[in-house]
Amino acid sequence: MSNHNELTQIYLDANATTPVLPEAASAAMTAMQTLFGNPSSSHITGLKAKDLMEQTRRRAQTLLGTGKGKLIFTSGATEGIQTSILSALIAAKPLITAPLKGAAKNYCVLYGATEHKAVPESLKHWLSVLDIAAEVVAIPVDEYGILDHEFISQHAANALMICTMAVNNETGVFQDLQLLEQTIRTANPNIFWMVDCVQALGKIQLDLQKTTIDYAPFSGHKLYAPKGIGFVYIRDSAPFTPFIAGGGQESGLRSGTENLPGMAALNVIFDMLLRTSNSAFCDSQTLHNYRNQLAQTLTDCFPRVVFNNSFNHSVATTLNFAVQGFSSKEIMDLFDAANIRVSSGSACSSKVTRSFVLDAMGLPAWQSESAIRMSFGPAITQAEVDAACQRIKFASQALTQSCMLLDASNDINANNDISNKVALDGLLQLRFGASCTWVYVDQANKQALIIDPLPELQQRLDTLLQCQELKPIAIIDTHGHADHQSGREVLANRYLPEQDCDILGWPYLTQTINHAGEQFDAIKIGKVQLIKVPTPGHTSDSISLILHTSADDKFDNNSAKYAFCGDTILMGSLGRTNFDSSSSAALFHSLKLLKRTISSNTLICASHDYNNEFTTHMNAEMARNPLLNAVLNEQITESDFIARKAQLDSHLVDEVGSEIMCGAYVGSCDKSAIKEYDANSLNIAMNTNTALRIIDIREPHEYALNHSQGASQNVPLTRLVQFIQEHQHQKQQPWVLICRSGSRSLVAAQAMHRLGFSQVAHLKGGYALSA
Ligand code: PLP
Repeated sequence: MSNHNELTQIYLDANATTPVLPEAASAAMTAMQTLFGNPSSSHITGLKAKDLMEQTRRRAQTLLGTGKGKLIFTSGATEGIQTSILSALIAAKPLITAPLKGAAKNYCVLYGATEHKAVPESLKHWLSVLDIAAEVVAIPVDEYGILDHEFISQHAANALMICTMAVNNETGVFQDLQLLEQTIRTANPNIFWMVDCVQALGKIQLDLQKTTIDYAPFSGHKLYAPKGIGFVYIRDSAPFTPFIAGGGQESGLRSGTENLPGMAALNVIFDMLLRTSNSAFCDSQTLHNYRNQLAQTLTDCFPRVVFNNSFNHSVATTLNFAVQGFSSKEIMDLFDAANIRVSSGSACSSKVTRSFVLDAMGLPAWQSESAIRMSFGPAITQAEVDAACQRIKFASQALTQSCMLLDASNDINANNDISNKVALDGLLQLRFGASCTWVYVDQANKQALIIDPLPELQQRLDTLLQCQELKPIAIIDTHGHADHQSGREVLANRYLPEQDCDILGWPYLTQTINHAGEQFDAIKIGKVQLIKVPTPGHTSDSISLILHTSADDKFDNNSAKYAFCGDTILMGSLGRTNFDSSSSAALFHSLKLLKRTISSNTLICASHDYNNEFTTHMNAEMARNPLLNAVLNEQITESDFIARKAQLDSHLVDEVGSEIMCGAYVGSCDKSAIKEYDANSLNIAMNTNTALRIIDIREPHEYALNHSQGASQNVPLTRLVQFIQEHQHQKQQPWVLICRSGSRSLVAAQAMHRLGFSQVAHLKGGYALSA
């Protein structure tokens, strides 16, 4: 097993921020230690500081061709955006309060639909603070991310201000500013025009004095200067109101003692941009070559990659892609394990799983949900690009060997010895959103059972079956799903075209098995059997599938390992019974039947997991679900149950995100407080408690790419339920769960704790904070 822990990171997230270039850092350091004066001081230390500041300004003015326009230093682009918007709106306000003669206009402010959130949010904020009644209108973009000029022509006449961007931060898409200017000025010669130039600096040539752009904010940290320094250009004829008043610095236009170290760093960056030789920055052709090389590697390694940005319409430093069948979180986890830093969607809103930019471009939902941005700065080197490509190959090979990718045709070279292909045996929980597909593998016979296959997981299931050389013996739905389509038919047609089965996929030719005088249908798979228990209620066709270990023709409850009960019992709730084919009376009896056929510790594997709880058992459910408890302890009559259930269902939130909620939540969903370690306390605990075991719960490909030798056991989240099942007798064992950032380990630890694993803990912040 290889260990890539020592690999240095490959940073490909320059559009979020860049490292500070050594020359710039050194200039900043000098400004802090030697040239530390206050530019407002009249002594020599102050004069030197002022000189450095003015030299930086002059360089910026030359670089950007600002002509007679102002160039004011700010804390960053967000401040530059506020300054611009505030200035423009204060100047535009009289237009609204004293409308021109004739019909009253409905005023608006326009912004590009793919603009950084700082723009529309600032517009809304300042319109509200200034009490200006103007609608905030997004200008649509086409599939390439180019602004709709016709829309601008139609709306600009009534607009107080228009905000566009030179280069988009997610896609690198640039606008033709000259053409845009024509459109805007033809429609409204007086409109205030702001162009967010943050992602354009150092990537496209700007000559601002030749344009009618009124405001242009920039940021230092997107181009190798530190965070906290930026600047804004203001056209000489554009109105201006200081955003920060005070000591009168920047000629009274922006008060506050200047950030000289930031300016010193910027000064170096401007110098490099102005140089024609010996610059750390590559020329445009070289950057295009680098992007092509990265794109080619991605295409070789991930045959189902799709690029979300057109290379003809975007600057060379940005790639935005999606890999069909993978969420952006999965690719992020994979790349992070390979020590490649990229971002998903927009870095500024990393909790959001879709990209509003790609949505605005009208790209298919999956591309937006799975989007990965890979971006680099103009100081990147050929060696870094080569290393990135090599690392991408490692990552894809790790995926191939964990059976999540089949046909990557990459030529991994000799010194890479990732060999993490493990023959799967037992239970696997796959999920898409909050819905689950369960796969049970009998490795000895190379057979698989697939339960509730989701259409979104078809490709993953295909890959898994082929890679592990497994033959499905049954593909079964636990019920006719009302909330989503089943992927059963497609898979069954492919793998079991001859099988004679009912509509849910249960094969007709099965044996029967006896349990406490009742007969059930059963299928054998290796040493276990799958038993079908009719559990109508949620739907009339609902069944539960009990996997148990007894090999004879009768079984007892204690041999029941897993109960795949669809939506009959969900974690913390009972399946909803307000569909046309539902019956709460039937559910009442199904719950009792289920209780008679499984043990209190049989793991219940539901078809939804809204709360990241993975699995449950009757003991845990009865403890937190009073209604279930009442049914199973004979404390409620059928008619009272029906009434209570109707009441619960009427309170059901119909949708969670894009998914229908299949159960009314009745139990408490309080997550237990889990013991948390940091790297230090974990080290101490490991030295003092020899019984303590580390479990790395990342996926096998992440584990293969990057883990400490011998220190941990890998139990990916997809195998957690099996792990819980196999360790039910070790509930006092101290375990510490670890993942990349501490979020997966926390939910897994909470799930285990709820099921009685009292000594489970996790590493807060994950590997990210402990390396
Ligand atoms: N505009 C764009 C296009 C950006 O990419 C960013 C940063 O993500 C900003 C504005 C905000 O810049 P700052 O971080 O300097 O405030």
